[in-house]
Amino acid sequence: MYDVIVIGAGPTGSSAAKELASNGYRVLLLEKFKMPRNKSCSGILIKKSMNLVEQYFGEATPFFTQCTPTDNRGMIFTNDKGKEYRYEQECLNIWRSSFDYWLTQKAVEAGAEFRDETVAISCDDYPDGVEVQLKGAIEYTEYAKYVVVCDGVVSSIKRKLTNTPKNYITTYQTFNKGSIDLDYHYFYAYLQPQLSEYDAWFNVKDNYLILGVSVKDIRKIEYYYSQFLSYMKQHHNLKIEKQEREEKWLMPHIMPGCQVEYGKGKVLFAGETAGFLNPMGEGISAGIESGYAAAKAIEQCGLISSELDLDRIYTAYQFNTVNLKNYMVRQWNFVASIASTFDHMRL
Ligand SMILES: Cc1cc2nc3c(=O)[nH]c(=O)nc-3n(C[C@H](O)[C@H](O)[C@H](O)COP(=O)(O)OP(=O)(O)OC[C@H]3O[C@@H](n4cnc5c(N)ncnc54)[C@H](O)[C@@H]3O)c2cc1C
Repeated sequence: MYDVIVIGAGPTGSSAAKELASNGYRVLLLEKFKMPRNKSCSGILIKKSMNLVEQYFGEATPFFTQCTPTDNRGMIFTNDKGKEYRYEQECLNIWRSSFDYWLTQKAVEAGAEFRDETVAISCDDYPDGVEVQLKGAIEYTEYAKYVVVCDGVVSSIKRKLTNTPKNYITTYQTFNKGSIDLDYHYFYAYLQPQLSEYDAWFNVKDNYLILGVSVKDIRKIEYYYSQFLSYMKQHHNLKIEKQEREEKWLMPHIMPGCQVEYGKGKVLFAGETAGFLNPMGEGISAGIESGYAAAKAIEQCGLISSELDLDRIYTAYQFNTVNLKNYMVRQWNFVASIASTFDHMRL
């Protein structure tokens, strides 16, 4: 019997596992893929994420996880009216494969047991603990007093436990060799409705120009992507010599009020699984913070799992995430204030 099984080794899962293992809990951290694994991402660590990494992982984000230009200097938004807003901020440009792997290693150094290439199939909540069905080379079962589910946006585990409707935004981004008349140190987001159904973006990682669009209807990717390329050619002299790869992914479609699901019974949800995501797909800070908050709630209430303890855990978890939730609501409100395409998010 583990004290806690953490499912998913993204920033959320590693943060939860690191916190619990550091405090002497017997933790098993599971990851479906072989680490290091790729995760489609712009890889911008905003200052808040950099600070959380230092605070919860005890070290600054190491150089080997970074790509050039390493010092990202902030975001430039263009709203639906074509007006530009600059947000200067010290950020880092990282590759998720090495960054996430480093976070996982920190959890292991703290004492967490780690198994990659292991898929969690289901969680069954019994009075004395949770039974977790796993599939690695073989199918088998592990038990824990609590489970923290951090398996990301789709979360097959959460879907089996709740009837949350599927509500996703599809992201599509390409990695290109070429040139453009934009400053490589910034992340550019375009909120014009003719370029995407959510946002379109440009950033640079090592020698790649990355161009992306996000849509509600997956069949419209090609249309919006070609609109976006034409816009970038016309306004910023984009020249693509070669497209080297492409990625499709999902992110939660955040609704007004930023609904978060904290878990069911002894199975807590954190990160994107719970519904934490800031505008323009900034989710690493929310992942690290909510993973830590879930772990802290378990520590604050102890491992005895009576109904009363469960109530206390959820109260503690919600309390620990008040600032995070308020930050998320404020950020979405702010985006609604600069772009009428996000008007529905205004509270
Ligand atoms: C195109 C794009 C660009 C983005 N850019 C940024 C950015 O620049 N900055 C930023 O802060 N955020 C960005 N985000 C958001 C960020 O990537 C996510 O919010 C963040 O990764 C969420 O962390 P997580 O740990 O909750 O989930 P994830 O990082 O998705 O981790 C979940 C982990 O669980 C594993 N898993 C899934 N199912 C199972 C299972 N059944 N059993 C075991 N393991 C499982 C997965 O393999 C994965 O490793 C971007 C997202 C997208 C799609």
